[in-house]
Amino acid sequence: MGYLCSQCHTRLEGGGESKDEPPHRCTQCGAEAGLEKEKGMPPAMRYFGFVVVGAAVAALSGGIISRVAG
Ligand SMILES: [Zn+2]
Repeated sequence: MGYLCSQCHTRLEGGGESKDEPPHRCTQCGAEAGLEKEKGMPPAMRYFGFVVVGAAVAALSGGIISRVAG
């Protein structure tokens, strides 16, 4: 589980043996507050999912249009 600094958006590894404890401070800007748990999918994966869904919708609507037109 990673953490994100809300000040400078640096990704931080958690502390402790399990890497699950919140870091005490940001290694980049030294902020002690605003270190938030990284949640869910990384933005790149979310973007990829959006592209896949968009392509599927486009293919589907394209098929419907060609049926209606043809
Ligand atoms: Zn920071």
